[in-house]
Amino acid sequence: MKGYDEFMFDPGKQGEVKCKVCQDDCKFRGTRYGPRSYASAMAGTSTDFDYFECLSRNEDWHRQALALIQEINSTPSARLATMLREELQEVLANKTPTKTDGY
Ligand SMILES: [Zn+2]
Repeated sequence: MKGYDEFMFDPGKQGEVKCKVCQDDCKFRGTRYGPRSYASAMAGTSTDFDYFECLSRNEDWHRQALALIQEINSTPSARLATMLREELQEVLANKTPTKTDGY
């Protein structure tokens, strides 16, 4: 997801960027041309941008970790957030999902 495990920057502006999910360095995938966001797609505007992505971003554990982070950010419960954070640490440490469906 953009802003977490994939990033777009103006060409040449950004040398490296860390994945906000697993903290690994994201890989530069080249300069691309196209709409950079949903809004610019709707407006029909395309620009050059440098595209970075985490190499693990399509792994099950990484997708679950991202879903947990989003849940932590959206839950109004501090206790639930603490539990979710513990599970997130476990998923990241083992690089294994604790749940394989439903997220
Ligand atoms: Zn990552």
